[in-house]
Amino acid sequence: MVPYNSENIFAKILSGEANCIAVYEDEFTLAFMDIMPQTDGHTLVIPKEPAETLFELSEEGLGACTRTLKTVATAVQSAFECPGVMIAQLNGSVAGQTVPHFHFHIIPRYADGSSVR
Ligand code: 5GP
Repeated sequence: MVPYNSENIFAKILSGEANCIAVYEDEFTLAFMDIMPQTDGHTLVIPKEPAETLFELSEEGLGACTRTLKTVATAVQSAFECPGVMIAQLNGSVAGQTVPHFHFHIIPRYADGSSVR
């Protein structure tokens, strides 16, 4: 079990200490635009529950995140008119995770590998 560090930027977004461009929120989850988007429309989905990786997240938190993931990915696909959407989720710094609060990436993919719509 990894101890949760509430100094991370997503915890600060959840507490209101840091700003974000939110696109969806419910009792258990928040979705917002990535500050350094890999492609147009890159969006993140996070649980409100303090969990660093998949392995600390409760079943209820994971269920809430996957429901929000589908809702927001559907809206992103429609809004950005992208033919494909990559979903990514990294666990641990060696896997490339940089923010230690569980998150899904929703990354639109465009024709010819373009990063723009
Ligand atoms: P990771 O590498 O941990 O899977 O992804 C972390 C993501 O969070 C990156 O895509 C990065 O651009 C994004 N990110 C980091 N800091 C901030 C921030 O302050 N605000 C927002 N909206 N996204 C952030």
